[in-house]
Amino acid sequence: MNSTSAFRAIDVIRKKRDGRELSRDEIASLVSAYTRGDIPDYQVSAWLMAVVLRGMTRAETAALTDAMLHSGEVLDLSFLAAKKVDKHSTGGVGDKTSLVLAPLAAAAGVVVPMISGRGLGHTGGTLDKLEAIPGFNVNLSVAQFRRVLETCGCAMIGQTAEIAPADRKLYALRDVTGTVESPYLICASIMSKKLAEGIDSLVLDVKTGSGAFMKKEEDAAFLAELMVETGERMGKQVVALITDMDQPLGNMIGNALEVVEVVEVLRGEGPEDLRQLCLELAGWMLHLGGVAGTVADGKKQSEKLIASGNALEKFRRMVEMQGGDPAVIDDLKRLPQAQHTMTISSARAGYLTSLQCEQIGTACVILGGGREKKEDSVDPAVGIVLHKKVGDAVSLNEPLATIHYNAEARVIRAKQLLEESFEIGDSPAREKRPLIHRIIGKSGGKN
Ligand code: URA
Repeated sequence: MNSTSAFRAIDVIRKKRDGRELSRDEIASLVSAYTRGDIPDYQVSAWLMAVVLRGMTRAETAALTDAMLHSGEVLDLSFLAAKKVDKHSTGGVGDKTSLVLAPLAAAAGVVVPMISGRGLGHTGGTLDKLEAIPGFNVNLSVAQFRRVLETCGCAMIGQTAEIAPADRKLYALRDVTGTVESPYLICASIMSKKLAEGIDSLVLDVKTGSGAFMKKEEDAAFLAELMVETGERMGKQVVALITDMDQPLGNMIGNALEVVEVVEVLRGEGPEDLRQLCLELAGWMLHLGGVAGTVADGKKQSEKLIASGNALEKFRRMVEMQGGDPAVIDDLKRLPQAQHTMTISSARAGYLTSLQCEQIGTACVILGGGREKKEDSVDPAVGIVLHKKVGDAVSLNEPLATIHYNAEARVIRAKQLLEESFEIGDSPAREKRPLIHRIIGKSGGKN
């Protein structure tokens, strides 16, 4: 009799309920039995709730990640000589760094096999942004994914049925049982999918602030530490940057609008916060990818690859190979355009003291840029362009933002939310929040 046949879900539920540590075998048996459909949702729901309430040890978290990772295919990219590095963000508003980083790191000689997600709640999703490029196909087969990677050095797709199927089942169950909000479960969910990409190293961008899922920095740091340690236990190099999401990143929010900003950054232009964060994350990707001796050297190389146009060319090549219209890169008007625009202006003079970042993300979802229900389709053209960021001086009637919209009924609600998101005071008030709060792993960025 093997350990799986001796396994009883009820014993594992009781053990976790009572706060005792589960063994690697118990966790592996639970995950594989659930993935096969051999234990019912109600037992796994009870176990998930016990995890939310009791937590997990580091060893349990690593065992859960490993079991979920091996519930499906782990890509073997060993036919590519270069190191494989990915970047994952925990989600934000206006966060389009993935679209800059994949071609930028690939232009430096690192392989970037990026499997991304769609918008979640008020946050945008990389796949929705890519699909704003006419023709871009995010649903490549594993064979096509490997071919694009081999030719181009980077490819960006959605999760396939073969990758971490246990996460797909568990995530759907967590979503309806109030068990999403556990750092241990979030860690295993994210890390199992990322490690299935066959990567050597991972750069995590863990967001904190009013537009992040982890509003408090301590919570973001706890999750970051957990993910770094879990990845390292599994033999990968992992670093986490805790970065600011107290206001949107860059000035544009909305799928096609964000592609515009991506091209701007790849042309050496674009807003400073977005450009700086991309360079910092790229510095780490190049360093962990073995093409830069230090992060600072990685940043310098990245600046040069942008200045030379090589990073933009890599983006063009990836767009072309994934069926997208490469002409959009030279003529951004070929991207979907909203029919109407509406400006929001300041009701008083002063300084912009804060931006309710989650509300801005929600306003974009309401315009149709994200999904309010699972079955909703996304309008790639709509979104918001910010004209002011926190700390900027504002005069009476000066434009704060422009809404790009297609449906009158949606813009009313979005406009109200957006107007409430801007707080204007008499002075710039509080201290400027740093773009990068701290770095966890790989000696805290001291190399
Ligand atoms: N994103 C994921 O992929 N999983 C989680 O549990 C939370 C966010």
